[in-house]
Amino acid sequence: MSRQRTLRIGWLYPTKMNIYGDRGNVIVLSQRAAWRGIEPQVVELDIGDPIPDDIDVFFFGGGQDQEQIAVSNDLAGPKGDRLRSAIEDGAAALAVCGGYQLFGHVYRPHDAPPLPGIGAFDIETDAGSERFIGNVVAESQWGELVGFENHSGLTWLGSGVEPMARIVHGRGNNGQDGTEGAKYRNALGCYLHGSILPKNPALADWLIARGLEYRGQDSELESLPDTLEERAHRSAVARARIERRDEPGRSLLARIAAYAPIPRS
Ligand code: GLN
Repeated sequence: MSRQRTLRIGWLYPTKMNIYGDRGNVIVLSQRAAWRGIEPQVVELDIGDPIPDDIDVFFFGGGQDQEQIAVSNDLAGPKGDRLRSAIEDGAAALAVCGGYQLFGHVYRPHDAPPLPGIGAFDIETDAGSERFIGNVVAESQWGELVGFENHSGLTWLGSGVEPMARIVHGRGNNGQDGTEGAKYRNALGCYLHGSILPKNPALADWLIARGLEYRGQDSELESLPDTLEERAHRSAVARARIERRDEPGRSLLARIAAYAPIPRS
């Protein structure tokens, strides 16, 4: 008889970095594990809490500059080093927006000194003059991803990291190079709030499988009836198409395509 599988989810800064529904990602990881008989164990890791050595998947949500200052200070030194070494070691992770920025080398806000990140991702972020707000569609190894962005940060990828996705509708990392997010080993970072995982079940299952593998557990996941998730996904794609049809530089074809019906899968 196979032993009971558990998924230990390290939720980073739940009281400080949890805007635009990002807590929904922890709920999805927990529920999609539980639906398969895998026991989810959520460990809240806030200011002053140490990073345990038995976390399978970390989640780090978004937050405003003010919260990022306190979190950057808390991650300085051994705590950030411990988190970075867990990522280097193959722990799974999803970092969104403000959390994503602090997984990099540095985030330079408008009205504060530069905030050091943990350096898990080879990225740097500078606060921009424009706020990117709206629904996003991007292409990735998990297929089409949808989410909602709300950030002024412009993130630039170094050579030590690959983009998580390529923008179809939206602005993404910096509104210029067509990339969205970053991927390094089993860690993912992106600007997609929404929250991202309920509308992108393949991405959620990839994180669960990598987390199970990290501690030597069977990562086989039975498929789930994702009807509701797929409907939510399609609805977000439709909103993004319409919303972005008038973006500067959009081709006539792209403007027309924005009104094309979304195929029912
Ligand atoms: N403060 C950062 C920015 O504006 C992150 C915001 C967020 O997490 N939504 O870019």
